[in-house]
Amino acid sequence: MMNRKLMYVLILASLATVLVVNYYSPLESLWMLLLIPAIATVVLFPTWKATITVGLSGFFLMVITEFAFHQEQMPYQHAADLMITGAVEWVVFTVISSFRIKVARLITELEHLALTDPLTKIYNRRYLDLYMEKAIPLSERREDPMTLIMFDIDHFKTINDTYGHNAGDMVLKKVTRVIEGIIRDSDVFVRTGGEEFIIVLPNAPLEQGIKFAERIRKTVEGTRFVYKGKRILVTISLGITEYIKGQDLNQFIEKADQGLYRAKETGRNRVVVI
Ligand code: GH3
Ligand code: MG
Ligand code: MG
Repeated sequence: MMNRKLMYVLILASLATVLVVNYYSPLESLWMLLLIPAIATVVLFPTWKATITVGLSGFFLMVITEFAFHQEQMPYQHAADLMITGAVEWVVFTVISSFRIKVARLITELEHLALTDPLTKIYNRRYLDLYMEKAIPLSERREDPMTLIMFDIDHFKTINDTYGHNAGDMVLKKVTRVIEGIIRDSDVFVRTGGEEFIIVLPNAPLEQGIKFAERIRKTVEGTRFVYKGKRILVTISLGITEYIKGQDLNQFIEKADQGLYRAKETGRNRVVVI
């Protein structure tokens, strides 16, 4: 994809060229050149709103320029030719725009699919990597604290073995929904593996993160999970750590993972700070 700034230059330069050319020449077909800035604009803004705005602006630009500068050549034939040129141009432009809009929608859909987990509908590990690529340098530069919670459902294999895989899936979805209900918009919640999740709290110091992790733990413990009339007890173990300058993402996660491991070792359904 061409650089956006370069595209703006192309749009302005081609628009200026079209106006100069049409100012000096009464040839109707030269208005076809207007397709260049018009298409470049929808490449940058692939929406129907932009398409309609550009289409109408082009039409008025043509009419105004012709009336202002080529009035003496305005017999019936010239006006009719102008209309035909305008109509052909409009059709070509709309067809190209519709393709561009379709491509843009497909890209958005694919990005969404690539970055979310199909079962729980929350973000996946790939999203976390992309997010942290920006969040870590930002936190370092501003010296803002950042806390990461890693948690894992306790004895999840037993839940699957006792109640079936569908019950396991239901638990995963419900745990996700319950936690989604208490996190803030700026928090990043991802499913990193089977029944393992990470929550990043940007701008949150460790003490605040610990309170929050404890709240999550209690919320899950206090939630009723019922599958086919049977109550399933669900708890989670959590590891939590604060970002230390110079760490990369893997080191940061590794610390929280150590906490999680220790939480499992020391009896589960608890928060361990590292
Ligand atoms: P611990 O308390 O130590 O975490 O024990 P655990 O049983 O939760 O841990 P373990 O890693 O042994 O089991 C995880 C299980 O999660 C194994 C795997 O079959 C199951 N699992 C992974 N992904 C899914 C999923 O999408 N749906 C369901 N139902 N189960 C899954
Ligand atoms: Mg587990
Ligand atoms: Mg696990």
